[in-house]
Amino acid sequence: MRGKLVVGNWKMNGGLAANAALLSELRAGWTETAGRSVAVCVPYPYLPQAQAALAGSPIAWGAQDVSEHDTGAYTGEVSARMLAEFGCRYAIVGHSERRQYYGDTDAIVAAKAQAALKAGITPIACVGETLDERDRGVTESVVLRQLDAVLSAVASEAKSLVVAYEPVWAIGTGRTASPAEAQAVHATLRARLADAGAASVALLYGGSVKADNAAALFAMADIDGGLIGGASLKATEFLAIARA
Ligand code: PEP
Repeated sequence: MRGKLVVGNWKMNGGLAANAALLSELRAGWTETAGRSVAVCVPYPYLPQAQAALAGSPIAWGAQDVSEHDTGAYTGEVSARMLAEFGCRYAIVGHSERRQYYGDTDAIVAAKAQAALKAGITPIACVGETLDERDRGVTESVVLRQLDAVLSAVASEAKSLVVAYEPVWAIGTGRTASPAEAQAVHATLRARLADAGAASVALLYGGSVKADNAAALFAMADIDGGLIGGASLKATEFLAIARA
């Protein structure tokens, strides 16, 4: 039986004072719950703050990206080993904003997933189609191409992945995939994961998840929780989603 995982993606938001309030509200508001896991992925400079605020709590923390390289002359990059030193359990890889604005290709995303696993960090590998791709009827081929790149790179470690289906047209737009639309894509992804011997991988949905639509999405057979952007910045909203 797969449990549910709800992960907040703060994106490039926050500040020391606002984070302190949010993290302490999350810590106070979340108690260990069987079959439910919660995490927040924060900007790099706030990792020590998240670590200090959440250590010993049932809430995990992680980063929003990771370098595909181990060490060396890669100005501005952060390695998986560095993330591990700050207790990160997760690193998001292949978020559509990274693919769109920073040129992360399928091959780079796959290498980042591999680098995270090597350091003992769980990659949350994001896949998702643009609105144009959905309209052209190529959703399935796009998400499978993105997933296959990661699966072939991580090979026998596929079971250690988390995968997030995030339709690009639903991210930060207030437009959510319907539970049935999301489930259809999740079922396709699940079948591919099963072929790779990784049927039990946590498969998250992301894209304008809020407290009032989370339960319907999470009730679908192949949706194992959510990757939450905007709504993860408000403790009451995020906690309501984590309980949905
Ligand atoms: C995201 O950034 O991963 C995301 C799903 O954002 P939002 O919930 O704001 O659509």
